[in-house]
Amino acid sequence: MPTILFQDVSKFYRAEGRTESAVREINLTIEQGDFVFLTGSSGAGKSTLLRLMSGNIKPDRGHVFLDHIDVGRVPRWRRHRVALKFGQVWQEPSLVRKQTVEENLELAAMIGVAIRPESRRMVKARIHKVLGLVGMWGYEKRYPVELSSGECRRIELARAMINSPPILLLDEITANLDDDNIWDILHLLDVINRKGTTVVMATHASEYVNIMRRRVITIVDGRIFGDVKRGRYGEVV
Ligand code: ADP
Repeated sequence: MPTILFQDVSKFYRAEGRTESAVREINLTIEQGDFVFLTGSSGAGKSTLLRLMSGNIKPDRGHVFLDHIDVGRVPRWRRHRVALKFGQVWQEPSLVRKQTVEENLELAAMIGVAIRPESRRMVKARIHKVLGLVGMWGYEKRYPVELSSGECRRIELARAMINSPPILLLDEITANLDDDNIWDILHLLDVINRKGTTVVMATHASEYVNIMRRRVITIVDGRIFGDVKRGRYGEVV
C-alpha cells in the first residue's frame, strides 16, 4: 500500500515578473491509512501540496514519491495507473454540468475499466454502491444544476471514490456546507479511513479538526510549521 514521501520539495510560481515560492523545502511522509488535516491560512500552500502529491503539478526542486514512483516524473503512458491511486476533490465545483450524476460517475469509472475490464452492468453496480455510500442513491438521473451545493460535494466525493483509490485528496471539501452535511461527510471519511484509505484534507474547519483529533499539519508561508499526531487546529507541537 502506497506511502507518500516528499523530499526537499519546493514549487515556485512567477507572478508580476517575480518568482515566488508556493511551498518550500517540504520533507514529509504520509503512511497508508493516515488521516491528515492540512491547515493554514489562505495562500499558505495547502492546495499546492495536494496537487504535488497527485502529480498534477511537478516540483521545481526535490521529489515526491509514491512508494518507489517519482510522481512528478511519471511517463505519459503510465499516468493513468498513478491517477488511479488518488481520488481527488478540488476546491472548485467540477461536475460536468451537461451530464447527469450517473454520466459524471461513469466518466471517472472508465479510467478504472481501462485497466481492469468490466461489463457495463458491473460499472453501474459500482456507481450504485458509491452513491449509496455518500447518501445520494436515487439521484442518478439528476443534473448538477438540480442539486444543492452539499449534494454536489457528495457526488464529487462519490466520483473520487468510484475506483476505490487507496488515497483521497480533498481540498476544502466542507467549505460553504451546513453542519449536517459536514458531519455526514466527516463520518463517511472516518469510516473509509478506518478501513485503510489514506485521507489528506485541506481545511479551515477548526471546530471539526478539534473534535476529530487526527494528524494536523500546519503550513505557514509554504513551509511546514507544525505536524502533530492527534492534533488540534493551530497546534504546532
Ligand atoms: P492555499 O491552498 O493554502 O490557499 P495555494 O497552494 O493555493 O494556497 O497557494 C500558495 C501560493 O502560491 C499563493 O501565494 C498563491 O497565490 C500561489 N499560487 C498558487 N497557484 C498559483 C499559480 N497557478 N500561479 C501563480 N501563483 C500561484
